[in-house]
Order: sequence, then structure tokens, then C-alpha cells
Amino acid sequence: MMLRLKGCERCGGDVSMGQDWHGDYLQCIQCGWYKDTSGDPLQGMVDSAMATLRSQMMAQRKAS
Ligand SMILES: [Zn+2]
Repeated sequence: MMLRLKGCERCGGDVSMGQDWHGDYLQCIQCGWYKDTSGDPLQGMVDSAMATLRSQMMAQRKAS
């Protein structure tokens, strides 16, 4: 686990850097403050929605 000392924008505490299914994030150990650092979160939602739509269309094409 990577640590960034005093990186929290809310309390100035230490944050851990991690990864989940959609990218990188920072989370404060002291207060639980959370920040997604993988880019614009709205764009990420659009991308995942488009990916779901695309896979559904592929499945329909296979079925017919
Ligand atoms: Zn904090």
C-alpha cells in the first residue's frame, strides 16, 4: 500500500493510494476522505455505460 503523507484535502492527514475496478483513488486514513484520481468521474460513468450498451448490441447481433 502506497502512502501520501498529509495529502488529505479535508483534514491534512495521510492518504493511501489504491486502485479499484475503474482506476486510481486516494483515501484518507484519518477521516475517510476519498478522491478518484483516474480522471473525470462523469466521463468514467459514460464510458462504462457505453461499454455495457456495446456488449448488449453484440449479444443481440449474435442471437439473430
Ligand atoms: Zn482526512
